[in-house]
Amino acid sequence: MEKLKWALRHYPIAWLTGLLILLACGVTIIMTNSHSLTITANVVNVRSGPGLSYETKRQIVQGTKINVIGHDNDWYKIRLSDDQTGWVASWLIHNTEVGTTTNKVAKVNKSSVPVYEYARTSSDKLGTVSDARNVTVVYQQGSWSQILYKNTVGWIHQGLSLTDQAPTTKSNQTPKTVTTQLSGVKLRKKASTSSAAMQTLKKGTTLTYIKTVKKEWYQVKTKNGQTGYVASWVVSLMGAQDVTTTSATKLSEATIVLDAGHGGNDSGAISGKNTYEKTYTLETVKQIAKDLRKQGARVILTRDTDKYVSLAARPALSNKDKADAFISIHFDSSKTADSLSGVTTYYYNSQKDMKLAKAINTQLKGLPLANKGVQYGDFQVLRQNHRPAVLLECGYINDSNDYKHIKQAAYRREIASKVTTALENYFK
Ligand SMILES: [Zn+2]
Repeated sequence: MEKLKWALRHYPIAWLTGLLILLACGVTIIMTNSHSLTITANVVNVRSGPGLSYETKRQIVQGTKINVIGHDNDWYKIRLSDDQTGWVASWLIHNTEVGTTTNKVAKVNKSSVPVYEYARTSSDKLGTVSDARNVTVVYQQGSWSQILYKNTVGWIHQGLSLTDQAPTTKSNQTPKTVTTQLSGVKLRKKASTSSAAMQTLKKGTTLTYIKTVKKEWYQVKTKNGQTGYVASWVVSLMGAQDVTTTSATKLSEATIVLDAGHGGNDSGAISGKNTYEKTYTLETVKQIAKDLRKQGARVILTRDTDKYVSLAARPALSNKDKADAFISIHFDSSKTADSLSGVTTYYYNSQKDMKLAKAINTQLKGLPLANKGVQYGDFQVLRQNHRPAVLLECGYINDSNDYKHIKQAAYRREIASKVTTALENYFK
């Protein structure tokens, strides 16, 4: 680290060159003068701190000039032309939460449609777009569309007709390249972690992308012409906006992010026996993970110990890892003990989440607790999730009958087996 700081101080140009390489995924930057860079990707999130758990302050779009004024690990502190500062991730540009699939062009079909900062009418108004204007839609969520607007992005509510117009492709592309994100990445003979390694690659090694196989492996070619496979989760792919993530058709092909509610100093609800929700959510998630892994799924946990994880970091992980399903586990509690009971499946965006919610709830009906059905829930872990996501309240921890089950490992095994069956059906 010290060496790196020294190098930054003494070789700013070398550092910028490194930055160019690091910013490989989807973003190409052009140096205009010493420290000023121009973003050429569609949209990049600017966060309030150097990490995914920090909130997105704003988003910047193609053509925006930024000045890099510092760094912290893989994050760059930047100053925007309007003197605002923020942080951008160097490595995950192709994983930004804003859809990186091809943008659509839409025509505004009402006069003076307001553009909001966030997808709610109570947020700040950035301005209006007028009738018949074409806008580029970067993301859609229910009846809200996120559009490119001035030098940022904004949200409009309805008021759009999607046209059949060809998408605004920036008709690049130079051959796609894959860059290793860690040192020790193995170039393998076959697309499997059990296949023999032909080479161990250093961090920052650039390879030519050939194709994606088995959903999460890239066939690549090295500089000296050797062909092999690297795991997609340890590399970044440049020009990734051109690669559409096909949804898994089998549980064994799927990436499942499991989210144990609460943790650390956030203990969640408390039972009549002074035990905590956070303990049972973690135990349940571990059991589900075990069952899903047996079926070959790639399972990622937002926490696997009793530690605090911010609410924002949970959906961010789901978005970053392109989860095929995100499941958050909780236990309810009511104001008065022993007044409410049962299991609820929550969704936020019916388009994206309903199929998953129904598949899971159908199975949860077999649990020994009352089933309260599928319901809408405005939870941050669902709201900020761009992947199919649900939140399960697996019983009331302060209801003595529900709690009799909740405290039992047998109940958690039942939940796990039902969630696994549900996912098997969901991916069929
Ligand atoms: Zn909870």
